Order: sequence, then structure tokens, then C-alpha cells
Amino acid sequence: MLEKGQLTRIMGIATLFWTLLGIPYTDLRALPNHSPVPGGVALVPLDKSVTLDTPVFYQSQRVLVLEHSNQLIALIGIPLHASPGSATLHLERPDGPSISFQITPKSYAEQRLKIENKRKVNPYQKDMDRIIREKKLIKTKFTDWRDEPPHLEFAAPVEGILSSPFGLRRFYNDQPRSPHSGIDIAAAEGTPLLSPAKGVISGTGDFFFNGNTVFIDHGQGLVSMLCHLQEILVQEGDRVQQGQVIGKVGMTGRVTGPHVHWGVSLNNARVDPTLFYTP
Ligand SMILES: [Zn+2]
Repeated sequence: MLEKGQLTRIMGIATLFWTLLGIPYTDLRALPNHSPVPGGVALVPLDKSVTLDTPVFYQSQRVLVLEHSNQLIALIGIPLHASPGSATLHLERPDGPSISFQITPKSYAEQRLKIENKRKVNPYQKDMDRIIREKKLIKTKFTDWRDEPPHLEFAAPVEGILSSPFGLRRFYNDQPRSPHSGIDIAAAEGTPLLSPAKGVISGTGDFFFNGNTVFIDHGQGLVSMLCHLQEILVQEGDRVQQGQVIGKVGMTGRVTGPHVHWGVSLNNARVDPTLFYTP
């Protein structure tokens, strides 16, 4: 938890930041919250030498840049494994002129889950080939760049209980595994699943852990991944609007019950989806 003094200091810095940008507070709704923590999104103002056509990179990955109230802002997804402290953006090319910004620490809670299907916790050797192959394919969905500017106001893909928040440090059957890189929304099997924002279906498939999965490329490195579907109702290449049905909630893959796992990736960093909408 934050100490009162720390909170006052952070609020002070945030106010100064917005004042420097000259953005009236009411305009901020169109942007995700400035949350420069592991698993968060940093909003970094760019100076006048930068134009909308200047590519900006973070960890060699191109990042989303938008104009807001006559100010260019880079939206940086910060990976959960990032170390707090100074971080660097590069202009024009991955090793070009640099701009620094700060990553502040955040600690996430622990979660212990019991999985009945032990093969989903300790996969067989033959499963490992499939898992490695799928991991490579999934990475391409997060690293592909499509130049269309994204719409940043998301809507929940399904109405339901937020059953598992983002960032939990997970243990399956008491064994440590990767942190929770999305949110889980519990809903009945067969409930229509909606696209959280407009985009292009960049892939679909049946994955070992994620079950039936849909990837939606929202543009400029912002990607949604929706997992554990009972049924997929879109195809790669389809254009979808916010609220359009893309499938049905299910319990395929590694699950303890019917729910959708919604992951949001920005510049190949998985970030908290609740930064983009109000649950
Ligand atoms: Zn999940």
C-alpha cells in the first residue's frame, strides 16, 4: 500500500504532468490512465521535433503515438517483468535519439489455483512441442504492426463478474507459473462474446492453455486476445466493430470454470485491460 506522503507526491507529479501537457482534465477520458508501472501504460509527451510519422520505439518494438489537444503522446505498454526506474524510448529507429521516462514499482497479489487436469499444469513431452509452436505464433500476433490509429475507449467483451484481476502472481497446484497477463470475466457458457473495440481479426485458433482464441488487432500494436471460447464466430481478416459478436463464452483450455480471459497487448507488453475501460 502507498504511504500518505507517497500518494501526495505522486498526485503532485501527475498534476504537474497534466499541467505541462496543457490537457484539461475532462479530455482524459479518451486516453487510458497514465499508469507507468509494470503491466501499466505510460503516457509520454513528445516534443515538437517529432511528427505523427516519426516511428518511436521501446525495447525495439514500435509504439503507439497519438495527437491529443495539439500534443503528441506516446502510449507505452510496460511489461509485467519490467524493472522500476529509468526507461528509454528511441526516435526514428530502435537505436535512434532517446527520450527517458520513469517506471514506478507496483506489487501484485498472489493467487493459488487448483487444476484438476494435471496435464494442463505439467504438460507431457509431446504437449511441449505444441506449446512452444503456439507461443511463437501468439508472439507474432502481438508484434505485428498495422498503421491504423486505434480507438482507445474499450467496452467489456461480456457482462459478468470480474473473477480474476490482472497481474496476480499465480501458483497452479502450488507450482509457480507466469503472472496473470489479462483479466477473467466469468459468464455462462454460450453467452455471446463481443469485440471490445473496432479492429481486424488477426488470428483464431485452438491453443493448449488458452483454448479457442480470437486475436483482434486494434491498430498500432494494440491487440486484444480473448480465450477459452466455446465457439469462434469470426475468421482471420474480418473487420469488426465495437460490440460485434465474435464468439461464445466457454471453458476450453486451462480453466476452472466458464469465463473469458481478455488480454490486452500494447507494443508486445501485456497490460491491464481495465486501464482502457471502466469495469
Ligand atoms: Zn485469465
